[in-house]
Amino acid sequence: MKTFTDLRDLLNRIDHRGYPAYKDTRGAYQFDGYVLSIDHVQGDPFAAPSKVSVHVPGKVAGFPEDLYDKKHKKTALQDFLIRQFAKQVEAFTFKAKGSGKSGLMSVSRCGQEILERTACEIEKGGAVVVRMEIGFPANGRTINSRELIKILFDFLPDCVKKSLFYRSLNPQAVRKVAELAEDQQYIRDELPKLGLDAFVANGSILPRESGVSDRPMRNAVSFQSPKSLEVTLQLPNHGELSGMGIRRGITLVVGGGYHGKSTLLKALELGVYNHIAGDGREYVITDQTAMKIRAEDGRSIKQVDISMFINNLPNKKDTFHFCTEDASGSTSQAANVVEAMETGTRLMLIDEDTSATNFMIRDELMQRVVNRDSEPITPFIDRVQELSSGYGISTILVAGSSGSYFHKADCIIQMDHYLPKDITDFAKKEAQAFPMPDEPVKPSDKPSFARIVKPDFSFKKNDRIKTKTLGKDSISINRDTIDLRYVEQLADTEQLSALSSLVKYAQLHLIDGKRTLTDVVTLLCNLLGQKGLAGVCEGSYIPSGLAMPRKQEIYACLNRYRSLKL
Ligand code: ADP
Ligand code: MG
Repeated sequence: MKTFTDLRDLLNRIDHRGYPAYKDTRGAYQFDGYVLSIDHVQGDPFAAPSKVSVHVPGKVAGFPEDLYDKKHKKTALQDFLIRQFAKQVEAFTFKAKGSGKSGLMSVSRCGQEILERTACEIEKGGAVVVRMEIGFPANGRTINSRELIKILFDFLPDCVKKSLFYRSLNPQAVRKVAELAEDQQYIRDELPKLGLDAFVANGSILPRESGVSDRPMRNAVSFQSPKSLEVTLQLPNHGELSGMGIRRGITLVVGGGYHGKSTLLKALELGVYNHIAGDGREYVITDQTAMKIRAEDGRSIKQVDISMFINNLPNKKDTFHFCTEDASGSTSQAANVVEAMETGTRLMLIDEDTSATNFMIRDELMQRVVNRDSEPITPFIDRVQELSSGYGISTILVAGSSGSYFHKADCIIQMDHYLPKDITDFAKKEAQAFPMPDEPVKPSDKPSFARIVKPDFSFKKNDRIKTKTLGKDSISINRDTIDLRYVEQLADTEQLSALSSLVKYAQLHLIDGKRTLTDVVTLLCNLLGQKGLAGVCEGSYIPSGLAMPRKQEIYACLNRYRSLKL
């Protein structure tokens, strides 16, 4: 293998030459304690920065195996190492100077969630790989390799040694990361055994600092379970922990405006991910398959069987294979429910604030005036029990203004000054005075999920497929934009970038005109399970900047892909 001396010689040789001469630096070089690999060199100083990876062998990295021997611990340690590495790198970015992106040193920015990312990978045997971007310095378009030598020979070795070697880290801090991951996984594993959809520990801090900051709110009211819903767990590391257990079935969250209902639901939505210590939601754990359901006016719908909710439309539109380029509030929410069922969800999370009223309820007076036969919508309230008992799909519903669901709910929680109270008995008694019109609703047939995806030949013909990620809002693939703004459980823009890669991979390799959407998603998930995100990267190197999405969001993305041929 080439060594750092070879690299230094090469860099000295190409100093002052035209920028493309940097291309010769591609390759792997042995440094003291690690291998530096220049995976891709940018075309000019203004283009996307160069891709560089650092490979520390297991023996040098020195992490004890019990810190990464289980998937959840490994993910947590990787996440921790990215954060440590990023902290070091931050001090050096743009310390080397030049034009355009010269001197940029950048690593994934992790938020509050712990996600699997291509930015860091711990391999079998404990080798640590870190992927980052570096802007190779130039003056104008002339190579300034002395500045790159600073980055690669002074700054980077310092960052690597301080953050990726076990002996430089505080062993207690590292151990705590693995212990938290173990405790979080323990709660996840306990949920089904205890018949729970979610657990919210006493003492949790649910609200966030602001609309633009995901950090915990200071001086917030900390969560405290009502006694009747309290569950006590014996965590392997933390020990005894009590909190509110939300039982499977139908749970209604009510309360006055501004009393913390949506904040609780939001915490449950993101409880499908683990959170870092200090987040306030580290012990808020929700069934991994949970899906937020909301109205999404304007989305496209392709061949979705929404007949369990919508039938006999006045324009005679087929609701067994419903298609539209511009859905209404109710049809979009119906499609979101049925598509969630297709993903195999066990829990739906719904906030009245973001729902279509006519999809959720019909009040008695309306039912008397407008006969059921002339209403195409069977509202969610008439299906919620069937979903629970027939399909094993629970619902947690926030409803501040309508009491209709009192009759249906198994458990009713009132948020009162940010604290939950169990008001099930009281609310049920009150509800008796307001009987529901007892028109039986015919059970629905199981929706059909047999949607074959047809190949898109433009992908096979064109080998330069352009993809772009716009924050957490959307991705674009060959000029098609997939709007993901309302897929609220996407936690990180890197998950959207990964979705681009997944869509591209599916188009190129999986969609064959015979497979259903479910077949395609299952194959993608199997591949991710076996090879991680690297498995869907097409190029000659694995880019940094991808984070693992859930199966649910892969479905959600494909379902919103307007030019997908279904
Ligand atoms: P609701 O949905 O019941 O109307 P929200 O959940 O939107 O209420 O909360 C209203 C406001 O109260 C938000 O600004 C939120 O940040 C704040 N809040 C929520 N929970 C707490 C808490 N535990 N302590 C302090 N403030 C909170
Ligand atoms: Mg609200």
